[in-house]
Amino acid sequence: MPTGESGERQRQDRIATVDVPETFPCAAPAEGAADGRLQLLVDGIVRLAAGELSARIEPSDQRDEIDAVITGVNLLAEELGYIHSDLEERVAARTAMLRRTQVELEQMAKTDALTGLANRTLLSERIQDAIGASAQGGSAAAVLVLDLDSFKAINDTMGHSAGDAVLVEVSSRLRSVVRASDTVARLGGDEFAVLIAGATEEEVVHIAHRAREALQECMHVGSETVWTTASIGICLRNPGHSSEELMRDADIAMYQAKAQGRNRIERFHPDMLDAVRERSRITAELRTAASDGQLALLYQPVIELASGRVAGVEALVRWHHPVHGTIMPDNFIGIAEETGLILELGRWILHEGISQLSRWKREAPGLTDFRLHINLSAAELLRGDLLQDIRDTLATNDVEPGRLVLEITETVLMSPGAGEEQVLRALRAMGVGLQIDDFGTGYSSISYLRTLPADTVKVDHSLIKDLESDPRQQKFVSAILQLISAAELEAIVEGIETAGQAAQLQAMGCLYGQGYYFGRPEPAVEVLKRLRTAGQQR
Ligand code: C2E
Ligand code: CA
Ligand code: CA
Repeated sequence: MPTGESGERQRQDRIATVDVPETFPCAAPAEGAADGRLQLLVDGIVRLAAGELSARIEPSDQRDEIDAVITGVNLLAEELGYIHSDLEERVAARTAMLRRTQVELEQMAKTDALTGLANRTLLSERIQDAIGASAQGGSAAAVLVLDLDSFKAINDTMGHSAGDAVLVEVSSRLRSVVRASDTVARLGGDEFAVLIAGATEEEVVHIAHRAREALQECMHVGSETVWTTASIGICLRNPGHSSEELMRDADIAMYQAKAQGRNRIERFHPDMLDAVRERSRITAELRTAASDGQLALLYQPVIELASGRVAGVEALVRWHHPVHGTIMPDNFIGIAEETGLILELGRWILHEGISQLSRWKREAPGLTDFRLHINLSAAELLRGDLLQDIRDTLATNDVEPGRLVLEITETVLMSPGAGEEQVLRALRAMGVGLQIDDFGTGYSSISYLRTLPADTVKVDHSLIKDLESDPRQQKFVSAILQLISAAELEAIVEGIETAGQAAQLQAMGCLYGQGYYFGRPEPAVEVLKRLRTAGQQR
């Protein structure tokens, strides 16, 4: 394409080669002949003006002024032709450039910048293509959705560039286990998807297994070695399944794989959809459960083993649903934690529990050394106004901070982030008791018992199940109790169901116990009866 200077030069070269008559005859032509040629000239100019740039006017052999004008017009036409075609070339070149940029932009809009994989948009286009192909007799499509299991920990402990390196490695491993015709996409964060077209059910499952195995191999990031696993959901498309439904169901299967313990593969089943609907129904209803007065606290006594005295109570929440009856916390606390509703729920539980404690104080005078235990979820530790809320609620209800014990599960306390640790220390400084809950279910370690800002440890009920029948279990529980005491913490054992268990634990030096043997979770009024009876006995 002639552009700029070189284009200009080429054009002048072409003009120079045009055959121009050198001399023009001066003799005046006969009038009629001139008229005819003038008409020709006018016609030619009209055609040229109309855009017919290839039109030329035939000069006569008279070579007079008219012929000179004709030759001039022809030259002009020639020049216009060159300019015109040059412009057309330039326009064509610019259009091609624009088209390339547009394609590049489209490409960028459809790929993930970090990994170069397809993004959600491109994946859904490809799924639609695959669905279109299968409608015309092509083979069925399947989608895998993969979510890394421990990516947040990698990001948090090793930094974001290490996290990025892991994501890049994951994408290349995923690419290596599928065929070039399959689409690997990054959906965002640590979530990936694979579209497999034209494979049998067995092949799809096989690919999922290969992906799981490829991802659990260790990775080298800088000088560090990192392990990660993935939870994988599979959905094979049924006729009538839309692209969105296919993705949604693969996603649901992935969540199921997570819920079943991670590093697993689950195939979508319609029952899973019912479970999801049930969860979203619960979520919607839970949102207003507290304000609709459907939540209630029951209180389970905590007993001083040596004296049988009620040393306190643990508040346990119940949801009295207008249609489904009483729903136990195991069926909604997890959902509340996942959706963030736990923050509002936890706020209600704290307020209700503490104001009930102040009512007991008024109704059962002489109540000393009686503590209220409240379960606190991990997310609540990072509720911005938690400390202020607790301080204010205690003050408003005239309850001393030492009467409140917050139960926090072992797994949270094991690896608190900087924010959580600060809150825990501030709570201790305030005088609020901190208890490690469910001790013995996680990865208990001796060293963390000493460093935690807790003052009591609640040994999980699973550890005392076979206490009466299994001598090894007795030795184990005894060792755990000694460990707790060596760390200068007080032990309480939960889930005591028999007199024998209570007696054995007391003999082992355990100070406090809780369980059906002493009392089930009960309404506040029942607790008051216990407290009054105890008061009369004193
Ligand atoms: P958790 O904190 O370990 O509470 C003890 C659970 O064991 C309670 O179940 C209690 O009823 C049950 N339990 C007590 N004694 C015995 C016994 O002798 N044998 C047996 N088999 N079980 C016994 P619940 O009330 O269903 O609570 C389940 C879990 O829900 C709690 O476990 C706790 O993690 C959570 N939860 C309950 N209330 C709250 C709350 O107000 N806030 C938060 N964040 N979580 C709560
Ligand atoms: Ca508890
Ligand atoms: Ca517990």
